[in-house]
Amino acid sequence: MATSSEAFRFALHTCENHDQKELIGYCKTCQEKICSSCIKGKHATHDWETITDILREKKRSLPKECKEIRTSILPGLRGELSRFDTKIKEENVRFEQTEATLNGSRQSYISKINRLFDDKINECRQSTDAATRIYKDKRDDLKQKVEFLDVMTTSLDADIDTLPEHDILDMEKEMREELEKALSYRADKYMCITVFLPGLMDEQALENMIGEIHNMFMEE
Ligand SMILES: [Zn+2]
Ligand SMILES: [Zn+2]
Repeated sequence: MATSSEAFRFALHTCENHDQKELIGYCKTCQEKICSSCIKGKHATHDWETITDILREKKRSLPKECKEIRTSILPGLRGELSRFDTKIKEENVRFEQTEATLNGSRQSYISKINRLFDDKINECRQSTDAATRIYKDKRDDLKQKVEFLDVMTTSLDADIDTLPEHDILDMEKEMREELEKALSYRADKYMCITVFLPGLMDEQALENMIGEIHNMFMEE
């Protein structure tokens, strides 16, 4: 592969321009390694040094420079590292605070919504109770009359021969009166329809709540 042969040539430190000649110098003008032919050619008038000379200088200066980097630069960079860590921690703390706030708000809004629905359900219950009270009263009256008529008709039917004569007449009179009253009871006669007022829910309150939730994020 081309890339691996290039890497190999680089590893051998040979010149690309001059038949793989050994690179023995460094041109400071062009900032590249050069071979003996390069030196005679276009780099002849440039500022160049032999790699041997450069290395002699590097071996003298580099250890000192590396020590300098370790003692005075790396501590600062490590400090910067910990400042990054601090930023990451701070962001996460901010998230946790926000999460706690939002969960608090969530609970508060759920409670408010529950209360709105509970209030509405109670209101409907009361309205229904008021409307059905009349039906219940009439039903109770009619039930009494039905029970009375049941007893009375059973008695007049079964005991007609043994009852005192006056009692028979009184009982019959009372039976007919009660029967007439009972027959006047008609469930259809009473128009007690439960009216649930417009807006089953307090929609404005719900909309206000949604607005408040939006605003929570605008305040930031
Ligand atoms: Zn060359
Ligand atoms: Zn050059």
